[in-house]
Amino acid sequence: MPPSIPASVAAADMRRLGDAEPLEPYPGRAREPWMCRHIPCKQVIYPNRNNVMNGQGACIWCAPNAPRNPKEAAAAMLEHGFIVLVDFLGTGKPWLSQCVAAGHIVAPRYDNVTGRDGGCRFCKRYGPGDPHEAVADMRAVGFRPLEPFKNIASPWLSLCERCQKISSPRLNNVRTRGECCQHCARYGLDPGAPARLYVLAHAECGAVKIGITGLRTREDRVVRFQSHGWVPFAQIQFATGADAYRVEQRVIKLLRAEGHPVFLSDAQMPIGGYKETFDASRVSVGRLLALAEAEL
Ligand SMILES: [Zn+2]
Ligand SMILES: [Zn+2]
Ligand SMILES: [Zn+2]
Repeated sequence: MPPSIPASVAAADMRRLGDAEPLEPYPGRAREPWMCRHIPCKQVIYPNRNNVMNGQGACIWCAPNAPRNPKEAAAAMLEHGFIVLVDFLGTGKPWLSQCVAAGHIVAPRYDNVTGRDGGCRFCKRYGPGDPHEAVADMRAVGFRPLEPFKNIASPWLSLCERCQKISSPRLNNVRTRGECCQHCARYGLDPGAPARLYVLAHAECGAVKIGITGLRTREDRVVRFQSHGWVPFAQIQFATGADAYRVEQRVIKLLRAEGHPVFLSDAQMPIGGYKETFDASRVSVGRLLALAEAEL
């Protein structure tokens, strides 16, 4: 290996050939990234001295056909169907990204994507993801999609099977963050966090109700029901909201199958939750609790 050149000479090379002002001492090796400021565009860059000496130019943002800054680079990739996952390294460097259509992890080059309209190579070969798989993933967290699958990053109009409200989650977020219904989230049900199942009775309405909520939520859902005349009968704690949801749904399904319809109307329950009500003269709170406990 040739001996390292003096730092002052190295810095002078960067200024003369690269129009770059070093912002840290010479790293000591010609192929090591060196933090500089590009004088013309004033951006911080990490060229290596070797490339600058070879006339490749110091600045990734001032190269021919280059985006002017990180924001512009990411926006151009998104416009062509890619969500970038790491920092831009140059127009000709593989850029780790996720394709919007199907979520494939790929590393296309910026110049190919923007200049030659290069798409995701997996999508080209296999198509933009399996729509059946996409629907199955939505159903698994309680969404019933109401329109055909487009891609993982677009809002997807869906019905929440729990609260029967409509929202537009992105499959992307459902898969990676386990995103659930925004309406349910307002009630404080996080599928991954501790939760409780409660059984309530309303003497005036002659109704009983089962429901679930997060264990540590800003608003206490049960207290809210109490302020509307409901009396708590029992509660069961669960390690996760998903477990609580499963038990609640089993109990409801069982009772509906026995011929017990939804008892109260939406209008009678301004704070929501009418779908989980029963006629108290036919289903007792004790029965609700016993059925839930049988599912544990
Ligand atoms: Zn520049
Ligand atoms: Zn793809
Ligand atoms: Zn919901």
